[in-house]
Amino acid sequence: MRLLVVEDEPDLLESLAQSFREDGYAVDVAQDGREGLHKCKAWDYDAVILDWMLPKLNGIDLLTQLRKVKPTPVLLLTARDTVSDRVLGLDSGADDYLVKPFSLAELLARVRSLIRRSAGHATNVIEIGSLVVNVANKTASQDGVLLDLTAREYALLELLAYHRDKLVSRTMIYDHIFDEDDDTLSNLVDVHISHLRKKLGKDLIETRRGQGYILHV
Ligand code: CA
Repeated sequence: MRLLVVEDEPDLLESLAQSFREDGYAVDVAQDGREGLHKCKAWDYDAVILDWMLPKLNGIDLLTQLRKVKPTPVLLLTARDTVSDRVLGLDSGADDYLVKPFSLAELLARVRSLIRRSAGHATNVIEIGSLVVNVANKTASQDGVLLDLTAREYALLELLAYHRDKLVSRTMIYDHIFDEDDDTLSNLVDVHISHLRKKLGKDLIETRRGQGYILHV
């Protein structure tokens, strides 16, 4: 899953981006509201973590403009914690709201919840026959045995599992698994799919030549 973090405080931005990457996300960053809005329009992020007080365009104005074109899940991050601030944030189109200072564990859990809801899932566990994908601890098991997956393989499997029985195009994979800094070597989708097939068995993932992949139920 791919996130955008919009935050003007460099140390906080860096530490958030690193924490999300360590948790298995592809992460893009923006340091002001205008850059943030531009990226939100350019990519379909799985979730956006948006600071309220930003240079050039504040978080509320960014949200207002974004909501005219897209339903991207947005968590508003802010030091403003009065009831009227929260109401304004949510009414401007934020899906969730977290007040600084916050705990990293809570932020990660809230982002998981946002992504889960937008994908139409009620729980952290996706079961596909004997395959179980746990999006909370980023693991997958088959017939009760934990699969030994790289972070990329897991991310790819999670994306296919969220869209099980539906075609996942290569474009979707590029948009949701890799971030803007990934180089071409890490973008070898075919290689990751082939490794996944070796670990999951050949029949679970179907290739539609020139179109994409389907994880069968
Ligand atoms: Ca700020």
